[in-house]
Order: sequence, then structure tokens, then C-alpha cells
Amino acid sequence: MYQIPRGTRDFTTEEMQKRRYLEDSLRTTFQTFGYKEIQTPMFETLELFTAKSGEGIIEEIYSFKDKGGRDLALRPELTAPVIRFYVDKLQMEAKPLKLFYFGNCFRYDRPQKGRYREFMQAGCEIIGADTPEAYAELIAMAYYLLKNVGLKDVKLNIGNLNILSSLFETLKISKDKQKQLIPLIDKSQFDEVLTLLQVFGVGKKVANEFLEILQLSDIKKITKIIEKDESAKKELAYLEKILNLLEKSFNIKNYQIKMSIVRGLDYYKGIVFEIDAPLLGAEKQLCGGGAYELVSLFGGKETPTAGFAIGFDRTILALETEKYPFPSTKIKVYVIPVNEETIDKSLEIAQNLREQGISTDIDLLRRGIGKSLKYASSINAEKAILVGPRELEQGSVTIRDMKTGEQETVKLNDIQNRVN
Ligand code: AMP
Repeated sequence: MYQIPRGTRDFTTEEMQKRRYLEDSLRTTFQTFGYKEIQTPMFETLELFTAKSGEGIIEEIYSFKDKGGRDLALRPELTAPVIRFYVDKLQMEAKPLKLFYFGNCFRYDRPQKGRYREFMQAGCEIIGADTPEAYAELIAMAYYLLKNVGLKDVKLNIGNLNILSSLFETLKISKDKQKQLIPLIDKSQFDEVLTLLQVFGVGKKVANEFLEILQLSDIKKITKIIEKDESAKKELAYLEKILNLLEKSFNIKNYQIKMSIVRGLDYYKGIVFEIDAPLLGAEKQLCGGGAYELVSLFGGKETPTAGFAIGFDRTILALETEKYPFPSTKIKVYVIPVNEETIDKSLEIAQNLREQGISTDIDLLRRGIGKSLKYASSINAEKAILVGPRELEQGSVTIRDMKTGEQETVKLNDIQNRVN
């Protein structure tokens, strides 16, 4: 017996119904916000990802040489491929470009619940707009994508990396030192951050203020602390504009300011946000994104870019945890030829119903009435049509309601009306 590769999954028909529901719902919301769908390849040149994230990324991804000796990688995320696509072919399109996508991603992660080696992301990028309203709309869309799928408990956290960078500058913390601090900030290990800041020679009072900013969610209090930092103050005022729009124009009130959102400080710039499903525990982050700079790195003419990715698989887990009643696509009609004589006509009846868009299955195993009815109820068919030779001679069939067991004789040309 062969085993499925570690960190990958097969999806049953029930799971696929849930996944299709989620995909349809997300697609509809993206479209209602004026976004258009694109697709990029599953694998790219390895260089695309090392250019963005450094050589260190090779340890975390699936990379390989093809038969022509080219260094390639299965995509670990979709922002770099989409910006490559933009730089290559879409730069002349009218701005802003609002693009969304669904795609499988591959990471050499340690598998656990909510963390897989092959997983799906639904994401988007907005290219060519950096007004507060563009960012507010982007964040609102992320929030409503998840609300519209039926999730009740989601937490929206918003930060701003320019503020963090500006604070690092004021504290004279070099890029190398930032690299040591960022993973600790990311994991909210604030005691360790304090210790390290002191090792770096930052005074206790200043270090404590820094930590306070990272943990405060009250914008007025943060403003007070950073009063003397002009550039951080400017960024904070800009953030406040976005937050006002979220509240007043998009009716989103339950968000938190979280200055400790770091993401990849290398290419994210400015506004950043995350959406969590707290019920999921350790792997609770459903969505992450913000403004970033990649276009010029990939050889294009610099233009503002922002986007986010939603973890598709975690969103399914969150819906399941909340016991969301996923809609299921049911077979409406099951046709049963009572004996071999009526098989041809039964197939014709089934085909006519299908042509009217009614989902119809038919007994293909010549199982007889009893077993066929049992099967029809196992697939939750709403109606069974029994096609018997004597009735057929009269131009009729029997339609059985699978829930009540009630049966009625129906003329052939009336079947469609009676099953719909
Ligand atoms: P990232 O590109 O790392 O910001 O990830 C965006 C989203 O994808 C995260 O918020 C997660 O919901 C999801 N995600 C990231 N890595 C994995 C993984 N290994 N398995 C499942 N989902 C993931």
C-alpha cells in the first residue's frame, strides 16, 4: 500500500462540498468589491522567492532542479508570483489593479492541525493605490470575506510597520539587531524583548515605553508616548484616518490596534493586519496582509502595492469548530428501473431531468426495488422514480417521496413538475 506524502491530504466528497462552498462564497465577496480573478503557475523559478525572502527560504520550501537543470520551486505563497506577473505583463493596465486568486501553496513546515505542507490560500493584491480609503477597503474586504462565509468569532488586528521602524530608529537599533528582536515580538515574548533591548544598551525606561506601545491598543495613549517622534506621529495619524473609515464607512468596530504585528519586515511597509479565529488555538491566524514593496525589486516601475492571503484550510477548520451548517448539494431524484425492460426508458427519464438542471442519479447495477430504495435513502435523494413495465404502458411512473414514503402515479410529461 502506498502512503500519502506527509503534510498532504485527500479530501472526501463531504469535505469537497465544504471547500466548494467556501470557494464560492469567497469568490462572490471578492467580486462584489470589484476584484478580478487571475491564476499563476504552481511552480516558479527558485530565484523569485530567494529574491523576495533571501536564501534562508530554501530550507522552508520545496525546490528542485528540472531535467533541463533549472532551479525551480513549488510556490510557498502567491504574492511574489502575482507581482512577477504584474511586472511582466500587467504594468500598462489601468490602475488600481484589483486582483484575486485561489491557489495551492507548498511549504516544508512541520505538519500539525491547521499547518500542512500543501495548503490553499485565497488572496488578493491591489496595485497602484495608497490612499487611506484603498487600505480601509482592503482591510474591510478581508473582514467581510470571513464574515460572509458565516464565521462568527474573528478578531481583526491592525498595526503599522513604519511606526515600528521609526521606533527602532529612535532607539538606534540596527537592522541586524532588529532581526533578533522581530521573531520575539512576533510571538509576543515581551519579557525576552525587554531583556534583549537592555543587552543592546537601551535604557530601562525607554525600553519599557517601547514595550508599552507594542501592547497598547488605545491610539490616544500610543500618540502620547510617541509625542516627540515626528515620523511615527505622522504614521499614527494616517493609521487613525484608516481606522475612522473602517468604523464610519465600513461599519467595522471590533478591531484592535496591535503594533506588535511584524510579518516579514523585509518587504512589508506601512499598514499591516491579521485576522484570527481564537477558537483554533495555536494555528489561529486565518488571514495576514498589508502594504509591501516588491515591484521595483522585480524590475518594475515602483507603484504602491498591498494585499493579503486567507488560509483556506484554516477557515474550513474555523467554520467546523463553530459548527457552521454547510449547505450540501443533494441528489434530487433517483430513478429505479423496476426490471431490465424499463432500463432504456429510465435512462431517458433521467436524462430529461438532467437537461432541466435537476440533479438525477439512476440505478446502474440492476439492483431491484428494495435495494435501490435503500441506496436512494443513503444518498439522501429527495424523490425516487420507480419505472415499472405495466405503468410505463399507461405512460406513467411512480414517484416516491423519500422522506414521507408517500407514492403517487404521475404521467411521463408531468414528472418534471412533480419532482421540482
Ligand atoms: P502567510 O503567507 O504566511 O502570511 O500565510 C497566510 C495564511 O495562510 C495564514 O494566515 C494561514 O492561515 C495560512 N497558512 C500559512 N501557512 C500554512 C500552512 N502550512 N498550512 C495551512 N495554512 C497555512
